[in-house]
Amino acid sequence: MTRTPLRNDLDGYEVWFVTGSQNLYGEETLAQVAEQSQAVVEGLNGLPVKVVWKPVLKDSDSIRRMALEINGRDDVIGVIAWMHTFSPAKMWISGLDALQKPLLHLHTQANVELPWNDIDFDFMNLNQAAHGDREFGYIQTRLGVSRKTVVGHVSNPVVRQQIEDWERAAAGWTASRTLKLARFGDNMRFVAVTEGDKTEAELRFGVQVNTWGVNELVEAVEGASDADIDALVQEYVDTYDVVSELLPGGARHQSLRDGAAIELGLRSFLEEGGFGAFTTSFEDLGALKQLPGLAVQRLMAEGYGFGAEGDWKTAILVRVANVMGAGLPGGASLMEDYTYDLVPGAERILGAHMLEVSPSLTSKKPRLEIHELGIGGKDDPVRLVFTADPGPALVVAMSDMRDRFRLTANVVENVEAPDLPKLPVGRAVWKPAPDFATSASCWLAAGAAHHTVMTTAVGIEVFRDFAEIAKTELVVIDEDTTVRGFQSELRWNQAYYRLAQGL
Ligand code: MN
Repeated sequence: MTRTPLRNDLDGYEVWFVTGSQNLYGEETLAQVAEQSQAVVEGLNGLPVKVVWKPVLKDSDSIRRMALEINGRDDVIGVIAWMHTFSPAKMWISGLDALQKPLLHLHTQANVELPWNDIDFDFMNLNQAAHGDREFGYIQTRLGVSRKTVVGHVSNPVVRQQIEDWERAAAGWTASRTLKLARFGDNMRFVAVTEGDKTEAELRFGVQVNTWGVNELVEAVEGASDADIDALVQEYVDTYDVVSELLPGGARHQSLRDGAAIELGLRSFLEEGGFGAFTTSFEDLGALKQLPGLAVQRLMAEGYGFGAEGDWKTAILVRVANVMGAGLPGGASLMEDYTYDLVPGAERILGAHMLEVSPSLTSKKPRLEIHELGIGGKDDPVRLVFTADPGPALVVAMSDMRDRFRLTANVVENVEAPDLPKLPVGRAVWKPAPDFATSASCWLAAGAAHHTVMTTAVGIEVFRDFAEIAKTELVVIDEDTTVRGFQSELRWNQAYYRLAQGL
């Protein structure tokens, strides 16, 4: 079997930069348009996804052909458009209608300052994005084209950051469109929020969600060789603080070897099937010796999506967040709101899971431990124990609202955790914005899940861009949120998203 290692970087992707104009201007001006738009692209050097300049577009046929070429190129994940001069926008109708990739409208200008003393009408003729882009904005809105609009000169760090956020969202979208997700077992029995419409998910996000019998995974685990297990155990010893009972010669070393076999089997199954995300179910472990803990933690840290208890929707979010955060400090993980510290004015949320929290949330060396797990009825599982680093974070959940998916996000701050000597799992402690009561009230009103992706690598802007690209509802709880305003937004959205989908 061929094995496809998971791809988790943005190298090899491109964003194409197109400049709109028209033939009316004559050769000399059009040459200046080309030159200056190349300078704009040079100003975007160093973004995580390379921006590639394309020849100036001057008529509807070349615009439509450009859109079709972009659609057909898997490596081109989005397009940036700028109208340096005036490009009559009816030229753009067929092209925009055909375009199936994320679009960013960059409302910029070649120069920062105006050369007031030298401005003649040639200058005015060349530098007219101020109204050329308004014509383009009109046709995008007239056609209902989903896009991000960024305003300002490319030398402005805010402009660059907004473009970078969108590039990351476009990469997340590309990962989603090509994602194959393997479920081992079904959802936890009787649980509502982890259910959902897998057919709709494939249409909306492009994700293929399918189930395999857990004993197919068991076969892969049993196929792990002693030599590979030895090597992986050595990697654990080199990477983590491994408790002595799990070390070679330790009383419970076999449990670590069983955990390593689970990792090897899972990895080979995922690589052979080309999967980028997976779920497990503690109610359906077949002949697996332990609930996969360590293996899942490490695979998430490598970029895989994961959801526990059959939660494929959160698995999608973890995969997408891992790709969007590629190359940045921090990481993405399954998280679950577990329990509260309700001291008035100092409320905190303690989040964790039975085992499966990604060590990408910490910069410290995790401890590798073994403890009893009452649930699942299997051998005690090995797991990494750590606390997420303090700092800004975001939690995002996906709910199936029957006629659509809703993303709910809360901007949070991970804080230093008190010592937790008797809690042997990966965990995070956070303060939600704007305050605990508002956050929880809004979260409950939104029908948002107890499972989330927690990302410490990307902020809310990247998820806003992702939701816009995916044409999916996103409600955000942040510093500006009030319960009353949020409830109104939910009501308006209820109507909007139904109308926007049509019949
Ligand atoms: Mn759970």
